[in-house]
Amino acid sequence: MSGLQSLRGMNDILPTDSPLWQYLEGQVKEVLDQYGYREIRMPIVESTELFARGVGEHTDVVEKEMYTFLDRNQESLTLRPEGTAGCVRAALQHGLTHNQVQRLWYQGPMFRYERPQKGRYRQFFQIGAETFGVGSPDIDAELIILTHRLFKKLGVSESLTLHLNTLGSSEARARFRKALVDYLEGVKDKLDEDSLRRLYVNPMRILDSKSKTTQALLDSAPQFKDFIDEESVEHFDRLCELLTAAGVTYVVNPRLVRGLDYYTKTVFEWMTDALGAQGTVCGGGRYDGLIPLLGGKPTPASGFAMGVDRLLLLLEALEVIPADIYNTVDVYMVVAGEQAELAAFKLAETVRSLPSKPRLQMNCGGGSFKSQMKKADKSGARCALILGDDEAAQKVVQVKDLRGESEQKTLAWDDLAEIFA
Ligand code: ATP
Ligand code: MG
Repeated sequence: MSGLQSLRGMNDILPTDSPLWQYLEGQVKEVLDQYGYREIRMPIVESTELFARGVGEHTDVVEKEMYTFLDRNQESLTLRPEGTAGCVRAALQHGLTHNQVQRLWYQGPMFRYERPQKGRYRQFFQIGAETFGVGSPDIDAELIILTHRLFKKLGVSESLTLHLNTLGSSEARARFRKALVDYLEGVKDKLDEDSLRRLYVNPMRILDSKSKTTQALLDSAPQFKDFIDEESVEHFDRLCELLTAAGVTYVVNPRLVRGLDYYTKTVFEWMTDALGAQGTVCGGGRYDGLIPLLGGKPTPASGFAMGVDRLLLLLEALEVIPADIYNTVDVYMVVAGEQAELAAFKLAETVRSLPSKPRLQMNCGGGSFKSQMKKADKSGARCALILGDDEAAQKVVQVKDLRGESEQKTLAWDDLAEIFA
């Protein structure tokens, strides 16, 4: 087995890092609970067709980034590149969109074949939320306010900017797309290679082209605000009003289109300058067209997905990780002697059953008193319980404070509760 390595862009999360992941996941779950979102867990593998239809044939994700393979029955399967399509599939399959409002969330690994770099991996993690059955801007506002609360709670909100845009109805978008293509055809020879490729398959994506010359060409291109439908304008205005009332600041960014095909009306992204090119930590919006596209009755929907890897990089960059999350042991049990060992296991269970549920690590594998004390110190525990045969016979234990200055003391087993209040 020696020499085997994890795949490029797919990382192990080691025990030294998992407290950070658990901390973040805990914070997100707490916020989602507060807003009444319920967890859904979907399979990691789905039929390729789901993503081809649900994400869009002409998106980067489907064209270039999917892990697609034939199973032993020659069926084309794909490791999920995102969660929305699978979430909608599950909701339709189990009748969750019938005359009811759903607020759902999910988390887990996503897979995209991209060039790995900081903040961009081939297996990465998202936490997403999706709502089904509400077409009004209030729920778009709720989703954004929820993410805002989370970012404040994590201490990163000052470094994030909310970019907001509307893509209008699909009809308005179609009219705009045509005008945009007409215009861009006229300046075709000046377009960058990527944009040229997108011109007929996904021209909206040209709007967020990274090329400066293309961006300059877009300055004189038709503007979406001249094509947008009245209903979408009202939706957007109300959303802005709701956000302002809730104290959420935003910038309107008419060039924000997002990579996936199925968005209508609201789109938003939380962006930071602190992570270089991988600056979007959360993106979402409304996708009223997706459910009918996947075979359901027309049902409005909106949601977001957060890149957990990037959010963690941001926490690190801003140094807002609480130090105590890395303490995983409260008390370390040092054992010397055979009788002591018998008593120690029993005592350890008593301690773990105390109301404050102390995290007790038992010294397993023996060792001298000195080496056990070293391990106790390294464990990060706040105190050590020391049990020798003499202590066991007298039903007492030595308590040594590992962090403070207080004297080592002898305590009766029955009195242990007082130090773990
Ligand atoms: P980007 O423009 O950075 O490629 P995207 O538009 O492809 O992002 P979405 O499909 O909207 O991303 O996914 C939502 C979020 O998931 C992103 O904002 C980002 O935080 C995260 N994300 C997307 N792709 C990756 C990846 N390969 N590695 C790590 N995080 C990612
Ligand atoms: Mg991408």
